[in-house]
Amino acid sequence: KPIAIIAIGMAGAGKSTFVQRISSYLHSQDPPSPPYILNLDPAVTHVPFEANIDIRDTVNYAEVMKQYNLGPNGGILTALNLFTTKFDQVLGLVEKRAETVDYVILDTPGQIEIFTWSASGAIITDAIASSIPTVVAYIIDTPRTTAPATFMSNMLYACSILYKTKLPFILVFNKTDVQPHSFALEWMEDFELFQAALASHAGSTDAEGEPTYMNSLMNSMSLVLDEFYKNLKAVGVSSMTGDGIKEFFEAVQGSRMEYENEYLPDLLRAR
Ligand code: GDP
Repeated sequence: KPIAIIAIGMAGAGKSTFVQRISSYLHSQDPPSPPYILNLDPAVTHVPFEANIDIRDTVNYAEVMKQYNLGPNGGILTALNLFTTKFDQVLGLVEKRAETVDYVILDTPGQIEIFTWSASGAIITDAIASSIPTVVAYIIDTPRTTAPATFMSNMLYACSILYKTKLPFILVFNKTDVQPHSFALEWMEDFELFQAALASHAGSTDAEGEPTYMNSLMNSMSLVLDEFYKNLKAVGVSSMTGDGIKEFFEAVQGSRMEYENEYLPDLLRAR
């Protein structure tokens, strides 16, 4: 049975480049293992990989905007909704290919919240995850997340997606060719180290030397994150050079077991 990888990330984090990289990695395996790719971004103008199913073949996003008199985000959301009404057919195609492919890859819309906080995103995620083992790959722009406060808000966002989907989750620190992700691993492993980094930032204490509101809020939130980190895997990759992609696939294999041992029993119980 194949495993589905849902690539999610903030615009510019490198989602499309990542999907292209893991796809070419799979093609170069011996024997080659070409993935089955779904592009769910209706507004993308250039896809650097060849998608087997492309939302743009089904809905014309520019036409949707015009017809329903919508702005860009409304257009993307409506296009995704229209596509979702046909997702049973898409799932049929995926299941037909399930015998011959090892990986199904979903690239999601550039604006992260359109997928993560919409009914359509949830329907697509649940449909795929109840059909085949599924893992979420959360792509992070590592060079842009070196400030402790930014790091924390990025992790809290990832945390909210984990608890919404309840699927096995891999944090993918991308662009390690520009910025190694060791700082992130250190912060995730050592809570006190992260707090020290937070405190060393300007404004951590007020004139009387007491922690500022922001600082104590961040301290409490980092306790939440400490729990979150225990529930996921983290890898560093460069979608540019291909560094770390092998380790990413090792994490995906681990996630398959997690899916079978944790997600699947819950799913069957719920039915
Ligand atoms: P998306 O909006 O998340 O799909 O991001 P893109 O895949 O379009 O990438 C955004 C920018 O980051 C592009 O200029 C990419 O060339 C660049 N990029 C993506 N991955 C890497 C990487 O691993 N290293 C470096 N240096 N740049 C990257």
